[in-house]
Amino acid sequence: MLIHAERALLPGGWAADVGVRVEGGRIVAVGPAAGGVRVGCLLAAPVNLHSHAFQRAMAGMTERRGAGQDSFWTWRTLMYRFLDRLGPEDVEAIAAQVMVEMAEAGYAAVAEFHYLHHQPGGAVYSSIAEMSERIVNAAEETGFGLTLLPVLYQRGGCDGRALTSGQLRFGNDVERFGRLWEGAARAVSRLPEGVTGVAPHSLRAVDVDGLRMAEEIAPGAPIHIHVAEQVAEVEEVSAAYGARPVEWLLGNFVVDGRWCGIHCTQMTEAETIALARSGAVAGLCPITEANLGDGIFDGVRFVGAGGHWGVGSDSNVRISLAEELRLFEYSQRLRDRGRAMLADGERSTGRVLWEGAVVGGAQAAGRASGAIVEGAVADLVGLDMGNLHLAGREGDEILDAFVFAGNDGLVSEVWSGGRHVVTGGRHVAREGVERRFRAVMAGLRERM
Ligand code: ZN
Repeated sequence: MLIHAERALLPGGWAADVGVRVEGGRIVAVGPAAGGVRVGCLLAAPVNLHSHAFQRAMAGMTERRGAGQDSFWTWRTLMYRFLDRLGPEDVEAIAAQVMVEMAEAGYAAVAEFHYLHHQPGGAVYSSIAEMSERIVNAAEETGFGLTLLPVLYQRGGCDGRALTSGQLRFGNDVERFGRLWEGAARAVSRLPEGVTGVAPHSLRAVDVDGLRMAEEIAPGAPIHIHVAEQVAEVEEVSAAYGARPVEWLLGNFVVDGRWCGIHCTQMTEAETIALARSGAVAGLCPITEANLGDGIFDGVRFVGAGGHWGVGSDSNVRISLAEELRLFEYSQRLRDRGRAMLADGERSTGRVLWEGAVVGGAQAAGRASGAIVEGAVADLVGLDMGNLHLAGREGDEILDAFVFAGNDGLVSEVWSGGRHVVTGGRHVAREGVERRFRAVMAGLRERM
């Protein structure tokens, strides 16, 4: 397959009339244009590095005020109640819809932080990795790149309290988790460039033995953990371990480039700099963090210290790549009362945001993508230069217009591992996937 890009952002900068040849899911040549699918602007496409697919089906259900002040914790109670209605068919249909929407937003793959493993009440399905298999089915149907992160969830809090109600569907001891992980990895191996990583849920939900096990189960594979998202979590971990979450993790584990700390909204200056220097990725979810009232990640300090980062849509309350990047920058502007907070001397804000998310997302997902170069997995996105928001824009301004003025409607083509999954702005399987999703949503309403 051949692509003719009228403009492309290559590792060395912008280039005109670039030809990209893709074979077997990889880029095999980058050179002068020689025909093929024509796109106005070609970019390497990012991985969405943090998602809980099933939460997409709760969007718009949790914005009422209860008695007292609503918070992350009251939201979590609603989430637990909701997920007890979901069966494997529902999860597969929702995950497929989520992947379609992510692709249309410009992502080429997702790192799915997957913790809904068991039946309501906690009994295992006859196939222990049933729910993981459903996520893999959705990736297969939509052609969307997948890094599956089976989640280890052992306890209700740092004090070792037992799991309650909704959490029973997540729970495993180390031995049973090992079997579940094997089953999940077997399913993922069906996917052309699928990756199986691992996710100890958080320092609240996983003990030290669990963390060690997660570190060893897949040497070198991505390891993701929710960390320093909420003030109450920082207090609980500090009381139990005598150190703040990021501080404790850096002091007790070899946190390196295979690690991804999700959120990191509650860090001290010293933790921010130490995490940046570790080589780990900070997994930022600005839309969800705003929705849940988590706080503001210190992007200026982290990026200034050379930290790697990427973005994820987490709760999937809204799936928008442009808005995720925009909100990251705007949160810094609002806090510091400045402009162009993440731009550097050479590159504009939009370009720094785009390249940061592309490189960090690929690292966090363990995916050999992240640039338009020979040998890379062909995760590519084409922008529609005929769109009004891009009229008269060139070079970095294209990305600035996409992030700050535009929306996901600018995404015209997406290739995931060389599979042409979005054409003319629509996912090729949208019709059937959307029909099934609508049926699932109607059914869930009846079961409320
Ligand atoms: Zn999350």
